[in-house]
Amino acid sequence: MLKNFLPNEHVKRVLDITPSKLKEMGIKGIITDLDNTLVAWDVKDATPEIISWFQEMKEHDIKVTIISNNDRERVSVFSEPLEAPYVYSARKPLIHAFKRTAKQMNLSKQEIVVIGDQLMTDVLGGNMAGFHTILVVPIVETDGKITRFNRMMERRILNWMRKKGMITWED
Ligand SMILES: [Mg+2]
Repeated sequence: MLKNFLPNEHVKRVLDITPSKLKEMGIKGIITDLDNTLVAWDVKDATPEIISWFQEMKEHDIKVTIISNNDRERVSVFSEPLEAPYVYSARKPLIHAFKRTAKQMNLSKQEIVVIGDQLMTDVLGGNMAGFHTILVVPIVETDGKITRFNRMMERRILNWMRKKGMITWED
């Protein structure tokens, strides 16, 4: 049970995930969360760093799809300028959106990584759908939507990972 909440990897920022690293792993596609993973939840548009990250992935033939539990307005306004396919109201951690997205990307689950800042949605859903999962540190602490229960669970799991030496940076 606990295993499903554990990411395969953890990095500080999404920008630390590079095409060369993904290619070494045989990865051809990314399914990424939006809020607090790519930008802070209250930032409307991609930053220059995120724009070039998407550009770099495209140049290396790595497909990127954004899947978010947020609404159509938020997700489309952010994703369309990046020319990135997107799924809104994804209902993560349910696995339907993940599975459907992989099919649309025409890739197997071994060829996709799932990236996100939340254990209870991104990592849990990605793991249950059978993908390699990468946890990032949330860009800002609060997003107004995460329940206190989710927060408490996350803190416990992250503390456990820290104790095991799985997390090496300082907050
Ligand atoms: Mg998020």
